[in-house]
Amino acid sequence: MKRSALTLPESLRVIAGAGCLAVALLGAAPGLHAQPVGIPSMGVASAAELSPGLERTLGDAIMEQGRRDPTYIADPDVLQYLTDMGRKLASHASSPIERVNVFALRDPQINAFALPGGYIGINSGLVVAAGSESELASVVAHEIGHVLQRHIARGMTQSAQSSHAMIAALAGALLAALSGSPDLAMGVAAFGQAAAVDRYLGFSRQAEQEADRSGLDMMIRAGYDPAGMVRMFERLENASRLNQGAGGNPYTSTHPMSVQRMSDAQNRIRGAAARPDSGSDAFWYVRAKLRVEQARAGQALRAAEEVLRADTRQTQGVQRSAAWYGLAVAAMKRREFDAAEKALAEARAGGRDSAQIAGLEIALALAQGRSERALQLGRQAAERWPGSQGVALAQIEALQGSGNDAEAVRVLQARIKQWPEVPRLWQLLAQSQERLGRRPEARKAMAQFYELTGALPAAVEQLQQARAMSSDFYEQSELDVRIRQLRERLESDRALLERFRKK
Ligand SMILES: [Zn+2]
Repeated sequence: MKRSALTLPESLRVIAGAGCLAVALLGAAPGLHAQPVGIPSMGVASAAELSPGLERTLGDAIMEQGRRDPTYIADPDVLQYLTDMGRKLASHASSPIERVNVFALRDPQINAFALPGGYIGINSGLVVAAGSESELASVVAHEIGHVLQRHIARGMTQSAQSSHAMIAALAGALLAALSGSPDLAMGVAAFGQAAAVDRYLGFSRQAEQEADRSGLDMMIRAGYDPAGMVRMFERLENASRLNQGAGGNPYTSTHPMSVQRMSDAQNRIRGAAARPDSGSDAFWYVRAKLRVEQARAGQALRAAEEVLRADTRQTQGVQRSAAWYGLAVAAMKRREFDAAEKALAEARAGGRDSAQIAGLEIALALAQGRSERALQLGRQAAERWPGSQGVALAQIEALQGSGNDAEAVRVLQARIKQWPEVPRLWQLLAQSQERLGRRPEARKAMAQFYELTGALPAAVEQLQQARAMSSDFYEQSELDVRIRQLRERLESDRALLERFRKK
């Protein structure tokens, strides 16, 4: 697929410390800032139209595009850690939340945003800047607060005309994507558009307060230290002051980090019991990995390694181990396998152990061509860390990398029972089935992958191919049912988006 001209790093500038952590679309996509003419304001009827179903469709379609963006971090350790945190917080919300998926973007600036359909994006820079797990949890909880109160849905239907124009354009872009056309008709990446929607909504002060309050309640009930929210506010305020020193930006001037929000949070935590901010080990390993991931290469990578090296001297316990782990991740990026091995041994010093370390050890052995060792490490790690998607995927890649596709399929099928909604597992299953010559099975697994990633036309195509290959009557009728269901969903999604675009 041809990528549109507007990619995420260009389209998003981050405004740390803005009233909400909001995303701005600056200097990109001419016309987006222009005041639309002749668009009727959206009334009560249209508010009813942005049903949870449409919100979900929008969110899925945005993510279908977003996952292809180079800033999207597909790392299983990162995705699982953030999403587990989001779901833990959401399970303590005052009313049920259907769906929460948290992902990270490769961007050193401090920001987070909520998309339609329960998707929450967190910049790597925010995780790196957080001094403790509860600080990070406070931002995730705040964004879940927006999801809980349905601010995105309400804002999209009730706010100013500019955001309506934006969402209409977004619906148009997504329709093009849903029709399976090879290029986005709007010439604008849906992901950037969605972020722009978030920016244009400019949640009201009241909405921000609601999100802070419900976020803080979730934090306390989920067992995070509520003081983390106040500390995060302080960090955001400092970051915003630094930004202003560098020339300032229009958003921070209109949405200052309000004293009101901070004192509000302070007053509310006074009533809550103080908690030791221990946090999970995983926070430190994921943070170290993201520090390296966001630097990528060159000078930035060397600077990240310097910070990690200082941490190996100045910290102890899990933080020291995580810093060594980060250095191992960096060495792997350079394909300096001896250095990675040494750093991993340091990360394990003092009996330290983590799923992230175990996963990297498997990947290292495989990269070194030591497939027997990779398989052995994979078996041990899967037993030691049965709940880790990163370990599971590393083990499966070790099996595939050493030609054990039949065993890989057995492991994959068990893991798919455990995590049916992880697209990568279905993709790997399709690869192994294909190599084993089970072609209809491979197509069916691929269809599942596409369905989970919001690419419905591609899913239908895979099922049709499977149908053509199959000679079994029962399998054929089963496939016919699936194809019909997916087509119906595709049609109703299209109809919803079409109505929204015309409003
Ligand atoms: Zn907010």
